[in-house]
Amino acid sequence: MRASDNGSPRIDGRRYWASLMEMAAIGATPRGGCDRQALTDADKQARDLFRAWCAAAGAEVVVDAMGNIRARRPGRRPELPPVVIGSHLDTQPAGGKFDGAAGVLAGLEILRTLDDAAYETDHPIMVVDWTNEEGCRFAPAMLASGVFAGAFTEAYAYARTDREGRRFGDELERIGYKGSYPCTAEPWKCHLELHIEQGPILEAEGKIIGVVTGAQGIRWYDVAITGRRGHAGSTPMERRKDALVAASRAVEGLDRLAREFAPRAVATVGTLEIRAPSRNVVPGEVRFTIDLRHPDEGTLDELERRCAAILAEACARDGLSFSWERIWSFPPVAFDPRCVSAVREAAIALGYPWREMISGPGHDSCYTARVVPTAMIFVPCREGLSHHEEEWAEPEHLAAGCQVLLEAVLALARAD
Ligand SMILES: [Zn+2]
Repeated sequence: MRASDNGSPRIDGRRYWASLMEMAAIGATPRGGCDRQALTDADKQARDLFRAWCAAAGAEVVVDAMGNIRARRPGRRPELPPVVIGSHLDTQPAGGKFDGAAGVLAGLEILRTLDDAAYETDHPIMVVDWTNEEGCRFAPAMLASGVFAGAFTEAYAYARTDREGRRFGDELERIGYKGSYPCTAEPWKCHLELHIEQGPILEAEGKIIGVVTGAQGIRWYDVAITGRRGHAGSTPMERRKDALVAASRAVEGLDRLAREFAPRAVATVGTLEIRAPSRNVVPGEVRFTIDLRHPDEGTLDELERRCAAILAEACARDGLSFSWERIWSFPPVAFDPRCVSAVREAAIALGYPWREMISGPGHDSCYTARVVPTAMIFVPCREGLSHHEEEWAEPEHLAAGCQVLLEAVLALARAD
């Protein structure tokens, strides 16, 4: 990695990588990934390790009521709000080594670097492991940062259940991470998050740093198309109301719509079910989901109207009916200009190739941005693979991202 020539301490890329690999051994899967779902024994083990590392780096560790671990390094001026670095240690069931852990352990590496250098900042520095970012065991995703931002109540979060009916609150208690510190928004100076891109753009363009200016808005829909079941042998084509044929036309129409609004729009039909499927029955009812994303709320409204028209048109020829419902939405997020520029300036000062970008996936930062100034740094990941056991990020890219994070943190930790 390149040296920082402005007098800031240099992070130790090898130590950062070694800690990532040590963390990845917890919940390791046979294919090189991680299964460290929220509030499992593996999550507890990862938390215990992170906590011990933070304490060894001289930080004061506090656990809040949502199980978020907050490791705080005092500043020269204790009355000032902390500059916070946050991400998550939980993973998908067949997840990778880097999604989340890269950000939390970059924060740890910064605590260690500052501790080694006995470096004094004005503002305190705090590293946070956010509980249950992934949402695969306890839906919805980004649950604890959502509670912090006031999007969910603590009672709602505690009552979430996994597939076996175990409650989030009980599991949090079971692993010993139901803290007493309140999980409510505080006047933090800012929240910065380093994350792998989880997409192919940086790698394809040979860039090392993504300066993330915001995140896409997301809307989820449930769709049902109803036609008429009929015998596959005796129902003439012109009398059919085939729900799968109509659904296929709709899927194709949605793909065309997103391409019309490319590159910023994306539309996905990720699940599709035929009711009571049989090889010799004309499908009478099909249900599917739509995931629609765009960084602009007004455009999302327009895309939503166009979706309705596509569904209507897909059903019109053969006289089928449809119903659809928006079941969830997350508005587009614009990160804080001052935090974004601290990241951009750090990337420029260090000489790394960078570009601005919008996050496709949601992150804890999407919630923190509602209550504290927030920005994110992306580093490339191989072939854009994520939520995948083969997820991979190059050690030197992670080290570069961590150094950029350190520079941005130090700039923001100076008293105004
Ligand atoms: Zn993540």
